[in-house]
Amino acid sequence: VERGGRVFPESDKSSDIIRCFEKYLNENNVDIMLNKEVAEIQKENEKISGVKLKDGLKIKCDSVIIATGGMSYPLTGSTGDGYKFAKLMGHTIKDIKPSLVPLVVKEDWVKELMGLSLKNVSVTMKYKDKVIYKDFGEMLFTHFGISGPIVLSGSRSAVDYLPNEVEFIIDLKPALNFNELDRRVLRDFGNLKNKQFKNSLNELLPQKLIPVIINLSEINPEKRVNEITKDERHKLVNLLKNFKLTVVGTRPIDEAIIT
Ligand SMILES: Cc1cc2nc3c(=O)[nH]c(=O)nc-3n(C[C@H](O)[C@H](O)[C@H](O)COP(=O)(O)OP(=O)(O)OC[C@H]3O[C@@H](n4cnc5c(N)ncnc54)[C@H](O)[C@@H]3O)c2cc1C
Repeated sequence: VERGGRVFPESDKSSDIIRCFEKYLNENNVDIMLNKEVAEIQKENEKISGVKLKDGLKIKCDSVIIATGGMSYPLTGSTGDGYKFAKLMGHTIKDIKPSLVPLVVKEDWVKELMGLSLKNVSVTMKYKDKVIYKDFGEMLFTHFGISGPIVLSGSRSAVDYLPNEVEFIIDLKPALNFNELDRRVLRDFGNLKNKQFKNSLNELLPQKLIPVIINLSEINPEKRVNEITKDERHKLVNLLKNFKLTVVGTRPIDEAIIT
């Protein structure tokens, strides 16, 4: 069991899980019919009487267990039939939501970061001022927003608030507090003296992130680092500790790992 409650077989092979189920079903003399799609569950006098398959075959029975999965990743065969069957049998079906799903953000500049993966960052998600999720680990920028392990895990908390805007705050330097990072930046600027601001962040940040950070810092990129004021430097450090994105939605349920 890994962080975030994710479960994997020790071998890392899903075929081992299938074999395990097969063995258990065989031991209990269960008939397995593969590649047979259930078209409907049949009722007689308000009682289950059987199951009708898409190829027309009818199987008599007096009870069924629906295990058709969720609505997400239809590629795996789970297209949401179970909800339809359960509803027809009189069960109440709550609205379904995607989970473990990439998130869409409002900021247009996120496209510039597409493909950038950040490791060892801390993230906090907030709705209004309430913290709804906190995590540490790896994330990824995409053409629409953000993905990767901590984003997928956090999406579970975000979906309850979306489509309202959810703040996604990245601490790019979680190992250092504000003052420590400020000292580090001051030291870097001291060593670089006459360099322009736009050429001063190579040691601190991944290349792709530099133009975005420079833009958001509102410090003139041509300015020499020894002319940067304390206020400007503090604004930069604050940006590195609180790099903000606005989550406005999720990717479609087809791309969600779970429903
Ligand atoms: C890309 C991806 C990676 C994942 N990785 C992990 C992981 O590492 N660890 C983990 O714990 N979980 C993981 N999950 C989640 C996990 O796969 C699901 O939570 C789990 O499979 C759900 O099990 P289930 O039996 O409810 O449904 P499913 O596994 O979806 O099984 C439902 C079955 O019902 C069948 N079916 C649907 N409709 C009909 C019908 N009308 N007639 C007949 N058959 C029908 C489908 O074909 C399917 O075989 C991952 C999911 C995805 C998409």
